[in-house]
Amino acid sequence: MSAFNDQDKTLIQDAFDQLLDHYNKINPNGKQALIKKAFKLANNAHDGMRRRSGEPYIMHPIAVATIVSKEIGLGATSVSAALLHDVVEDTDFSVEDIAERFDDTIASIVDGLTKIKTVTEGKEIGGSMQAENFKKLLLTMSEDFRVVLIKIADRLHNMRTLDSMPARKQYKIAGETLFVYAPLAHRLGLFNIKTELENLSFKYEHPEQYAEVEKKIADSSQYRHELFTQLTAPIAERLEKLNFDFEIKERIKSVYSVWNKMQKKQIPFEEIYDITAIRIIFKPQPGLSEKIQCWNIYTAVTDVHKPKPGRLRDWVSSPKGNGYEALHATVMGPQGRWFEVQIRSERMNDIAERGYAAHWKYKGGHEDNETELEKWVKDVRDLLEQSAGSSAIEFVDDFKRNLFSEEITVFTPKGDMYTLPVGATALDFAFDIHTDLGIHCIGAKINNKLVPISYVLQNGDQVEILTSKKQKPQLSWTEIAITGKAKSRIKSVLKDEFRATIRQGMRVLERELHDHKLAINSPILNKLLRFYNMPNKEELYFTIGNGNNKLQDLDKALSTSRKNKMVRSWNLNLFSRRKNKNEFSIKDKLALSDNESKVNYNVAECCNPIPGDNVVGVIESDEEIILHRRDCPNAIKLMANQGEKIVDAEWTSERKMAFLSQIKLTGFDRMGVVNKISKVISIEKNLNIRQFHFDAHDGVFEGRILFYVHSTQTINNVITEISKIKGVHTVVRVEQG
Ligand code: MN
Repeated sequence: MSAFNDQDKTLIQDAFDQLLDHYNKINPNGKQALIKKAFKLANNAHDGMRRRSGEPYIMHPIAVATIVSKEIGLGATSVSAALLHDVVEDTDFSVEDIAERFDDTIASIVDGLTKIKTVTEGKEIGGSMQAENFKKLLLTMSEDFRVVLIKIADRLHNMRTLDSMPARKQYKIAGETLFVYAPLAHRLGLFNIKTELENLSFKYEHPEQYAEVEKKIADSSQYRHELFTQLTAPIAERLEKLNFDFEIKERIKSVYSVWNKMQKKQIPFEEIYDITAIRIIFKPQPGLSEKIQCWNIYTAVTDVHKPKPGRLRDWVSSPKGNGYEALHATVMGPQGRWFEVQIRSERMNDIAERGYAAHWKYKGGHEDNETELEKWVKDVRDLLEQSAGSSAIEFVDDFKRNLFSEEITVFTPKGDMYTLPVGATALDFAFDIHTDLGIHCIGAKINNKLVPISYVLQNGDQVEILTSKKQKPQLSWTEIAITGKAKSRIKSVLKDEFRATIRQGMRVLERELHDHKLAINSPILNKLLRFYNMPNKEELYFTIGNGNNKLQDLDKALSTSRKNKMVRSWNLNLFSRRKNKNEFSIKDKLALSDNESKVNYNVAECCNPIPGDNVVGVIESDEEIILHRRDCPNAIKLMANQGEKIVDAEWTSERKMAFLSQIKLTGFDRMGVVNKISKVISIEKNLNIRQFHFDAHDGVFEGRILFYVHSTQTINNVITEISKIKGVHTVVRVEQG
């Protein structure tokens, strides 16, 4: 018996019937029994559950499945997985249950979807949660594409119904959509969905600007439509004469794109001239290639309207990385205004609108050349494999720079075509062809002219890589290369060399100690680290190995006593940059470790500054400031973009002594536990956090906190307070070294 009333039941049944009708129309011999079965299970599982808006929960999976079928064009397996996508997360069914009742494919898609959480659901640890999630998303994508496509559909429906979320969550979800899902949809060729996602995100992030631009577009629509009619009438006449089977559409730029262009070019709405574009979609005549027919239409169009020189874009001969094919021209319309004309066959249009799924449809399953999109997925996989060890934030940066960016096309002397992100250098190109070529690259010949490896490639360049057997990667190369592929290869070669140097350093130290009748052990290492002021033994070995540390005063180093473990404690002064703005109620100069101070600070994970470093503070909220090193790339980016959030900071030394201590804790990974712990620590006076590290897996976390304290009393207080937090299992103090 259902927990819903008759009205709800009718609502649900109607929505599902519509989905099934649509599916059957497109797939007359499809697996509708499978879809019905998935619906039945999902409907039972979510019985009685409601969404925040009040409607039965099952309406959401039905809507997602409808998007998957209608707007992305996927088949019965994906439609079924979409219907089941929240079952494991929200009900008592497990992945195994799904596998038992359906098959492993559907189960693994549902599993993938369950693992990717929305940013607002995750615990945010140092802001990298979002990045971690993104990495997870891509990981599942490289295993089965359908996971990410269904996730995009899920997100689209959530964005369409975002109204019922509290404002705080709306911001976060909209931000994440703009950051991750819209570019991903774009990259997968889901142009319509990408546009809608961007538009909706923008609407929730900037409601006033959205309304303003929307109104301006609406107000000018009649005028633009008149121009459109004047422009297209002679084109249509001409194409009819030539017996083309075609359709001409008026495409209006989305509110977000218009606004984005206004921002980028710093111009008012009135100066955006490409709000309307003309789209000519034709059914190809048999016997002639689509490419030739595109050009025939181009000729017809430019016979009646003058084309703008240099504005022709041919994505028919070489499609875009996301599979987009079309011919774009700009022609002069009525009143001397320029209009973009997009020429596409029906197939090209389908690909432009539905992307990935449409691709496969036209490929017909048979093996032919790898598409650009498949190459891209390979690159994603590559980047993921190479990124092990780098932080998630670093990875996302790399990813966005490499795989979401605009592309250029360059050629080898033999005429082979390569696609690289804008800004790629000759060195990137060398690594793109082959690792060996990259490693030994000394320069290049561009269109027969010699250039250095740092040359930034231009669209259409013909590139010949020059190599020398003696060449090997330098540290500076990681700055010259911009692609993840090249960077990771360079780093791995450098890492090998780094390791060799470390081994060398260890051997030298062993020899030296042997002369003192000693061997390497941790008390001795600790003495040396303190004496030579090294953060860890790898660094110590490295400096010995490369000759920068000649082990002078080794006798003295070995005889140092424990009191060297004491370090000076530090205070931090912050200076507000904009003194007149009361956005942030900070005193002109504030010592953060002052007893009365209410402002907490944390060190950024990306650069982990310690007392003595040149630092700036980034205001995260009223109560928290994140410290970055002044030369940290993230801080530089923030200073450039969000200057109002930056405060100057300065360490000032105090005479009191403090020592570095460490506590380790374990517990259950409950919501908010980490936040509570960090709160306890930051409330405690006289505490300087050096490092804050948490690892969570399978519902259990392990944490390590390093801080400077003045007395053991402080540590005991901290331990007592932390052990009171629900979810914390053990807290112990650990001796250094
Ligand atoms: Mn969902």
